[in-house]
Amino acid sequence: MRHVAIVGSGPAGYYTAETLQKAGDIAVDVIDRLPVPYGLIRTGVAPDHQSIKAVSRRYEGVALADNVRFVGHVSVGSDVTIDELVDLYDAVVLATGAPNDRPLDIPGADLPGVIGSAAFVGWYNGHPDFAGLNPALDAAGVAVIGNGNVALDVARILAKTPSEFGGSDIVAHAREALGGSGVRHIHILGRRGPHQIAMTPKELGELGHLDRASPRVDPADLPPEGDDALLEPGMRKSVTHLRSFAANPVAKPVTIDFDFFAMPIAIEGEGRAQRIIVERTTLDSDLRSHGTGETYAIDAGLVISCIGYQTPPIPGVPYEHGRGRFANDDGRILPGLYCVGWARRGPSGTIGTNKPDGARIGEMVLDDIGRGGGKAGRPGLDALLASRGVTPVTFRDWRRIEAAEIAAALDGNPREKFVSVEAMLEAIGR
Ligand SMILES: Cc1cc2nc3c(=O)[nH]c(=O)nc-3n(C[C@H](O)[C@H](O)[C@H](O)COP(=O)(O)OP(=O)(O)OC[C@H]3O[C@@H](n4cnc5c(N)ncnc54)[C@H](O)[C@@H]3O)c2cc1C
Repeated sequence: MRHVAIVGSGPAGYYTAETLQKAGDIAVDVIDRLPVPYGLIRTGVAPDHQSIKAVSRRYEGVALADNVRFVGHVSVGSDVTIDELVDLYDAVVLATGAPNDRPLDIPGADLPGVIGSAAFVGWYNGHPDFAGLNPALDAAGVAVIGNGNVALDVARILAKTPSEFGGSDIVAHAREALGGSGVRHIHILGRRGPHQIAMTPKELGELGHLDRASPRVDPADLPPEGDDALLEPGMRKSVTHLRSFAANPVAKPVTIDFDFFAMPIAIEGEGRAQRIIVERTTLDSDLRSHGTGETYAIDAGLVISCIGYQTPPIPGVPYEHGRGRFANDDGRILPGLYCVGWARRGPSGTIGTNKPDGARIGEMVLDDIGRGGGKAGRPGLDALLASRGVTPVTFRDWRRIEAAEIAAALDGNPREKFVSVEAMLEAIGR
């Protein structure tokens, strides 16, 4: 019997498990630090985008295969070390994602009221690490830094009315706090221009259909319309949305301004963030942004940086600091140790990008380990964890947690998530 451990139960972990699982005499353990599976499908993808979250049904199919096991509530690096896993399994695949915010490196970034998107997204999605965040929603002005889809998710969630969350699984504390929010002006800041955004058309178009909020684009920021022909079709559609926002300004109580060519240079305030100082930029022929020296201030009592993520290092695993991911050669880290998904590539690409990645790393592992042999595998991990008093959460346990969340859902919503590890464990009688 061959034994493989996959660390991380997000898309990359389960796509890797899917390939391995089909190989017959193999036992695959999918280990996660949380008692609940699916990584960012549960804690990242927006709560009002349920159709995207439905991909977890495919992972459930993999998790229920006879030769796959979920080992929840076990943190690799503290409950068990990488060296121990490498000793126990023929191969160990790190699919730990990139859950840490890239730091916003400007003066004032440490003021209260300045947070990263991992924290804010985790807060509204019920990640236990961020349930106590308490974002400064008393602020009328919010600056959202970044020009990707995460910035759009953050702006949309801030702008929605309580009734617009019907059918979502936004958690109770966020539903309540956003319901009483004082946010009126949201600025999405990007250092470059409309042709350099990393926003997809569907997500951008949604901003044009919000009950109480309207997007605004300064027509002067848009390049000549003929230049759109050079864009690939998806980007062209996105830019068409921006053109329509610029051409048809709608007066609604909450505004979402796209501040293009806008580089944040400082956050200021007495004891908390009150304003963000922005320098206007211009682009060179390589489309890199440069400050022009002209600055302006935006009132912002809440600043949310959506500028990318990093994989936290794990003791004993070589790490590429500049790119914030494990040092790897096309997925291989050290003999017997691999990485996949955001932990391998860095934080880019969609859920679907992890599918070929997981399939390839799965095949690579199968080739490398051949028939395998002699490793202690599952029983060895179980004995080690038991000796430390660590009791993993099984997939069966998770389904009981899930059933309790579904039973607690408000009418029309799919579930009411537990937002603490204690509450999750309590639901399974621990
Ligand atoms: C805010 C946000 C919204 C997104 N929305 C979309 C969308 O709408 N559509 C789309 O296609 N893509 C979306 N994505 C991208 C998508 O979520 C990622 O491509 C995908 O989740 C990456 O998969 P992964 O398995 O590499 O990492 P993750 O999904 O992050 O999974 C990593 C797992 O590893 C576990 N883990 C971490 N460290 C340890 C440890 N030391 N020990 C044990 N377990 C550990 C974590 O608990 C987690 O379960 C979004 C991403 C973000 C951040």
